[in-house]
Amino acid sequence: MAEQLIITVSGLRGLVGENLTPPIAAEYGCAFGTFLKEGSTGRNTRLSVCIGRDSRPSGQMLKAATAAGLCAVGIDVVDLGLVTTPGVSIMVTELQCAGGVIITASHNPIQYNGIKLLLGNGIAPPVEQAERIRQYFSQKHFALVDSTECGQVTSNEQTDAKHIAKVLAIIDKKTIAAKKFKVALDSVNGAGARVTKKLLAELGCEVSAINDEPTGIFAHPPEPTAENIKSLREAVKANRADIGFAQDPDADRLAIVDENGTYIGEEYTLALAAKYVFSKFATRNSKFEIPKAATNLSTSRMIDDIAEKVGGQVIRTAVGEANVAGAMLHHNCIIGGEGNGGVIDLRVSPVRDSLAGIALVLQLMAETGKTISRLVGQIRGYYMIKDKFAVEQSRVQQVLESTKSVLSELPGATVSIIDGYRFDFKDSWVHIRASNTEPVVRVIVEAKDQPTAQEYIKIIQAKALIH
Ligand code: MG
Repeated sequence: MAEQLIITVSGLRGLVGENLTPPIAAEYGCAFGTFLKEGSTGRNTRLSVCIGRDSRPSGQMLKAATAAGLCAVGIDVVDLGLVTTPGVSIMVTELQCAGGVIITASHNPIQYNGIKLLLGNGIAPPVEQAERIRQYFSQKHFALVDSTECGQVTSNEQTDAKHIAKVLAIIDKKTIAAKKFKVALDSVNGAGARVTKKLLAELGCEVSAINDEPTGIFAHPPEPTAENIKSLREAVKANRADIGFAQDPDADRLAIVDENGTYIGEEYTLALAAKYVFSKFATRNSKFEIPKAATNLSTSRMIDDIAEKVGGQVIRTAVGEANVAGAMLHHNCIIGGEGNGGVIDLRVSPVRDSLAGIALVLQLMAETGKTISRLVGQIRGYYMIKDKFAVEQSRVQQVLESTKSVLSELPGATVSIIDGYRFDFKDSWVHIRASNTEPVVRVIVEAKDQPTAQEYIKIIQAKALIH
């Protein structure tokens, strides 16, 4: 049986040629455009939406179809071409568009594609608004216009330049360039290679790039996990690089390989970026300000340890990039993101951005004069398990409640109910939540050692999952 089209807060995702077709993309464009027009009632100006795509071969087709849908409801479209997700977010605000669209299925394999939506602030719509767009799509509630009112499509090729300028503004180019870093880069033949190579050239790095043709024919499964980026680990060693960077196809996620060719885990990407940003804050006269970061409940405690050292604070949100970005804006956070290698620096854009991550990590290395393995060694590591268990929809709540009754009784437990349940203990925590996209519960455990982390999983399996 064909998989279902998945619609979440961040957009729509499906299998190309099965459930994700040009008519579906056009209707989704109509629904999004109708939603944006309703939000701007009373304004006389015409609305525009910028649209970009990652490198998948189905991208051109779906971009054209989505743009047609937007034009059909009277929205002008700015075609940014083949660009990254953070690039689109930047251009939404630069061009004062009412919204943005990215044709990407992020880290999913080539068979998939998706249509990601951004509002005028460059962030994915919050839950209620995403639900309204979904309703308009399923009910075919489209504010179609007549022939004289149809939207027009124009092109804009400024995304790379704007993106690079914004990233350069948050670091000191000269300090990095003086180090002449050797960098290995794996862009998985996605949208990241072109702009990232330009950025690294600006930073005076000597780059060995692999999988840097934006063909969308992914050289390995595109999620930047340890197993998937073996070729980058080899490239780091072969080229004696100081660091290796791996991006996912739309370049919002970043994984790091140290100078020995060791994969350091995506959780460290945000921790390292935060270490640099918090250190800068600590050197300023910040007596009256509390520096804040935001991240989701499933992200490592390393960021809390880093923040604590400078009297900072970490805001925890429900899982979902828009939740983190919303909290960052609300609390004026200096850094944020997600443990999947997603660094958000609001000075660049309110979405996860591998380029911002790369620049902040290189700046940290340049200023401290330390190798990446040394910097990682200075951050107190934890042992993390990310697991998922198949649970029928009807039993999900029961599993969550059973877990709560067991774990909340353990010594020192504090419980958060923002998104499923998160249980914090002195040196460990457990987060259990229902997936938004699959009939599974996700369990993330972090503890000071592997046996302790495994013990929590065993407890959940024995007391909540088996019935
Ligand atoms: Mg992505």
